[in-house]
Amino acid sequence: MKEVFSKNEQKGGKNVNEKMIYLDMDGVLANFPKDGAGTYRNVGFFERLEVIEEGCTIYTTLKRLGYPVTVLTKCPDLSHSKSEKTVWLERKLQLHTGGVKVIFVSEEKKKSDAIGRKAQLQSTDILIDDYNKNLVEWQRAGGTALKFLNGQNDPKTWSGISVKNIHELLEVLR
Ligand SMILES: [Mg+2]
Repeated sequence: MKEVFSKNEQKGGKNVNEKMIYLDMDGVLANFPKDGAGTYRNVGFFERLEVIEEGCTIYTTLKRLGYPVTVLTKCPDLSHSKSEKTVWLERKLQLHTGGVKVIFVSEEKKKSDAIGRKAQLQSTDILIDDYNKNLVEWQRAGGTALKFLNGQNDPKTWSGISVKNIHELLEVLR
């Protein structure tokens, strides 16, 4: 896994600690197959997902730079789905970063309601997600929503900021 450092971003720098980064899993870290809508509740589905290199590089680089990063992922209320996602994240990310913080969100719940915040979200609460509905709900709750372009979702349906790799993201976070 690559790690990318911006010249302008120092580990532990001023900007790093103010921001809370929430990173979606399916469609950002893991490639959710096009035909997955009908089968994602099946045993073994989440364990077999392929890595999205650009998304995982975002995760590992932000962690190295000292950002607090939480994986914020919707998940069916099935024990095997949660454990498979946990195993996947540990296998693909933990070796590089030494621990993955993850919050599972019930499918019918908003991501903005799932992070345990009592007050309104702040602009320093940053969600990186590939799905407009999650982004819109996050923005309405007061947070900053960045659309991750994974080559499968539509860049034109989002009028806010989009990023497709760590270089573009670091420019936005500056
Ligand atoms: Mg997603």
